[in-house]
Amino acid sequence: MFGKKDHLTVERGRLHISGADTVALAQEFGTPLYVTSEERLRQNFRAYDAFSSADKYFAVKANGNLALLRILAQEGAGADVFSAGELYLASLAGIPRDKILFNGNSKRESELVMAAASGVRVSVDSPEELETLARAAQSLDRTVEVLFRVNPDINVQTHPKIATGLRTSKFGIPHSQVVDVYRQAMASSHILPVGLHCHIGSQILDVSSFVEAAGRMMDLAAAVTSADGSVEMIDLGGGLGIQYDPQAQPAPSPADLAAGVLPVIRQRSAQIGISPRLVLEPGRSIVADSTILLTRVNTVKDAHVTFVGLDAGFNVLARPMLYDSYHHIVACDRADQPAAGSYTVVGPICESGDVLARDRLLPPVQRGDVLAFLDAGAYGFSMSSQYNGQGRPAEVLVAKDGGAELIRRAEGPSDLMAGQMIPSRLLY
Ligand SMILES: *Cc1c(COP(=O)(O)O)cnc(C)c1O
Repeated sequence: MFGKKDHLTVERGRLHISGADTVALAQEFGTPLYVTSEERLRQNFRAYDAFSSADKYFAVKANGNLALLRILAQEGAGADVFSAGELYLASLAGIPRDKILFNGNSKRESELVMAAASGVRVSVDSPEELETLARAAQSLDRTVEVLFRVNPDINVQTHPKIATGLRTSKFGIPHSQVVDVYRQAMASSHILPVGLHCHIGSQILDVSSFVEAAGRMMDLAAAVTSADGSVEMIDLGGGLGIQYDPQAQPAPSPADLAAGVLPVIRQRSAQIGISPRLVLEPGRSIVADSTILLTRVNTVKDAHVTFVGLDAGFNVLARPMLYDSYHHIVACDRADQPAAGSYTVVGPICESGDVLARDRLLPPVQRGDVLAFLDAGAYGFSMSSQYNGQGRPAEVLVAKDGGAELIRRAEGPSDLMAGQMIPSRLLY
């Protein structure tokens, strides 16, 4: 019914996730509610077995829930972290430091110190950052292994806000400068340059962009090797897209990606005479379709169009507003009914832009109904906010046997006050 998502089923008209009834979950845990299928998450990670010996570093920014990170750690995942906070989460989840890469285009000095002290690898984004990191490593008397984030100058077909490998992007070192920076690192006593890193963007549905990036990276690996640098790791980043719209073209699978990329890496490595370890950093393709967002209808209003007002808006799911993205919507207690009307689905936030779906065909929707947004596991909760005095929602994990457990409680008013102080002079 929902493409290849066999964790989502319809029984007696009701949407179930891993056997758990979504209407009952909304009743028990309240809404808005993120619900993750543990089994689907594991399956998605295992789909990357197509890359056999490559290391898979999960991009923590896609979903930083500790229980999910713990499941991925059990599956053997490493982590791509972008801040001290994400490094903290990854290590709490039990991801070994040897499989953590600290990324970022503008890292604080304190983050570089933390990375050096904790013994993770760092993806260096500029020559200046290399110097700051070298000083941090020296003062701690540690040697830090580094990769260089390369700007590969690759044009990809995706939303402009999530294309990260363009020549004009803020990320990475222009590829013409990479060999020089590598040399600079080789001469630095507390830095050990071990490889090259790129990440060309997100929600990419065209394998050829990855193949092009792999070729560009191997060109650089050849140049670095000629300059006596040692290339032990090639990290191609993440970015594989998923099929959000059931009517659209299916997305390439990790196996399709492997079929495109692996031959390039293997042939070129053999030519150059190196045998680098391949690293991937999938986020979305691991976690997006493992999770649905349950929301309740507060109101239905016939106006210029028929508006359905939910208890979740862009404070809970920012992607439609940020990237004009499509999330498929299912009416949870009539999931087998045909569409009866066109609805514009909006959130409770005081912004006209708080629209989650326009002119969407759905079965008849009434106040009190529970709607599910599919494919909400990536950049869903992790981008949520407390805007408009809304606490962030709860998260639930559904096990293989259909049992549901709370993995993050919903925030309430006290969470909105957390960290705030009224200066005593204002008290009376
Ligand atoms: C965001 C990001 C990823 C993950 O991208 P997805 O599209 O979610 O797979 C991987 N690596 C880096 C460096 C990133 O910034």
